[in-house]
Amino acid sequence: MFKRLLIANRGEIACRIMRTARRMGIETVAVYSDADRDALFVREADRAVRIGAAPARESYLRIDAVVEAAVKSGADSIHPGYGFLAENADFAAAVQGAGCTFIGPSAEAIRAMGSKIEAKRIVAAAGTPVVPGYLGGQDGAVLATEAAKIGFPILIKASAGGGGKGMRVVRNADEFGTALAAARREAMAAFGDDAVLLEKYLTAPKHIEVQILADSFGHTLHLFERDCSVQRRHQKVIEEAPAPTVTAAQRASMGEAAVRAAAAINYVGAGTIEFISEGAAFYFMEMNTRLQVEHPVTEAIVGLDLVEWQLRVAAGERLPFAQEDLAVRGHAIEARVYAENPRRKFLPSTGPLPHVKFPSGVRVDTGVSSGGEVTMHYDPMIAKVIAHGDDRAQAIRALRAALGECEIAGVEHNVSFLRNVLGDAAFIDGSYDTGLIEARGAALIPSADPRCALAAALLVVLCRSEDSVWQRGDAFRVNQTARQPVNLRHGVTSIAIEVEQVGAGYRLYVDAAVVAATGVTLEEQTLRARFDDEMYACTVLRDTDAVYVMRAGATEKFLLPSKDAALLEGAVSDGRVVAPMPGQIIAVQAMIGTRVRRDQPILVLEAMKMEHTLVAPIDGTLEALSLAVGDRVVEGAELFRIAALS
Ligand code: ADP
Repeated sequence: MFKRLLIANRGEIACRIMRTARRMGIETVAVYSDADRDALFVREADRAVRIGAAPARESYLRIDAVVEAAVKSGADSIHPGYGFLAENADFAAAVQGAGCTFIGPSAEAIRAMGSKIEAKRIVAAAGTPVVPGYLGGQDGAVLATEAAKIGFPILIKASAGGGGKGMRVVRNADEFGTALAAARREAMAAFGDDAVLLEKYLTAPKHIEVQILADSFGHTLHLFERDCSVQRRHQKVIEEAPAPTVTAAQRASMGEAAVRAAAAINYVGAGTIEFISEGAAFYFMEMNTRLQVEHPVTEAIVGLDLVEWQLRVAAGERLPFAQEDLAVRGHAIEARVYAENPRRKFLPSTGPLPHVKFPSGVRVDTGVSSGGEVTMHYDPMIAKVIAHGDDRAQAIRALRAALGECEIAGVEHNVSFLRNVLGDAAFIDGSYDTGLIEARGAALIPSADPRCALAAALLVVLCRSEDSVWQRGDAFRVNQTARQPVNLRHGVTSIAIEVEQVGAGYRLYVDAAVVAATGVTLEEQTLRARFDDEMYACTVLRDTDAVYVMRAGATEKFLLPSKDAALLEGAVSDGRVVAPMPGQIIAVQAMIGTRVRRDQPILVLEAMKMEHTLVAPIDGTLEALSLAVGDRVVEGAELFRIAALS
């Protein structure tokens, strides 16, 4: 077995791999960028080597720096995790070249499956059904003709793609040219390769994937399937195993097809064959030649540690079990907790994390703890919460309850949104498809509990009486019985609450209503009160310019008046549009001085590995735009201004 394992990754997956290595008595080496100097995975490693600056291209994507770190630290093996260099054949070859073992398949296998075009050709030849489409030359006119032949809607996919990047649904011939250009641009930026393939776009499919595991003696097994159909913008949000609608017969035939596809390239290690399925039919989409984000649900139902088996197989061990030895035990569901704002089109959110608390009694894979940070440089996933139950209903209940215990302050997050998805009728009965989130739209977006604002106001008042900083400009001390105003800003809304002390309790005046708050206590971070006749408890946190109220998984942030709230709004109605987050301009789509319509795309900003299109907030003339492709912008910087037509 290996003695020292370098993990060429960061965040939760680095922590997760190190956990298994430690249990197996293998020393761990972390590599980190400047942005991750104080990250949890760096602290947890036996040793840590700096490999470069914050942008991934200058650190986690640098093959030379990672291999050099391995050689210098005496590592005998390198685990790539997922993302970054995990599916980079040159990296796998360089690792072997440096005398280390790559914990993954051969460079040839990665190369064969790295191109979606090549992969589909190989598995089709091995007798696995593939999605109908076009895998040929790249001439734009030819692609347009082929798209029409397949019949709209079609899907343009980057051949080198992953993570939903370089992918565009095209509903009619008119949209094809623009979509092709966008897909190519995104693919070139992300993968350095703009080759695309076309596929028939299935309108109500399920994403079902099969986990496989193979040793170097030609023994290939499947560890059953996962359903990853709950997606947003073609990216997985909730995953489960087994798939709720797959029959035993389908399970067997998908499993066999997956094993056949893996065997066709002499695959060794853990990998995933992704299928898209409609009714009883299923088609190969692609193979991921690495550990998947969602591997914990499979681990839960088969009772195996996939990282352990990756290491054992890479060390030359034989898989000691046969397909018949494996059975599905219960049901497991994973939810991905992201730093993003569901109320603002899921815009990623960055910043320090002054307070993070995860539930106990379920598996939580995370790379952050209180005092950590979500940086703009990498993926915004904060944690994965995984529940395992005897059956699906129990797993859903356990996961919803566990998410309700999450407390995350500092960045916006999707925990309440995830709980809403888990409570959706179509999710619960299993009839959903990949369009679930889009179809539900606003219904899944969490709204704020109005009591949060009351709790925030009480907290402000309680803090004022003990903290001079909070007393400035406040009439409270002049007249103890006066109503004291508390002004808060919640998202785009200003909230004015007046708080009056009445005996041992308070009266809160909000708009036209009056709420009595009695039995108010603040112990540590728990605020309790009886609002009229209802008991209420929440976790609160004071920051310099905001208070956070956390309850049932939700976090509501209330800014104190000093903060310039305008900066936090992406677009303001006067026609000015500011950068909602730091990033780089990758396309300018309108010319200065021209007439533009409301919602017309003006700029494309790339941030946190995704493209964000910024549109005109009003009809008018594009009056100011001084940015060019390649420019970097900071959060709050003015991007452009539309002058309203008078
Ligand atoms: P990536 O590698 O970028 O993640 P995939 O090929 O794995 O891209 O596809 C991601 C998701 O896009 C799938 O899970 C599915 O929801 C959707 N998708 C992919 N191909 C099709 C298709 N032909 N029809 C409908 N949806 C598709």
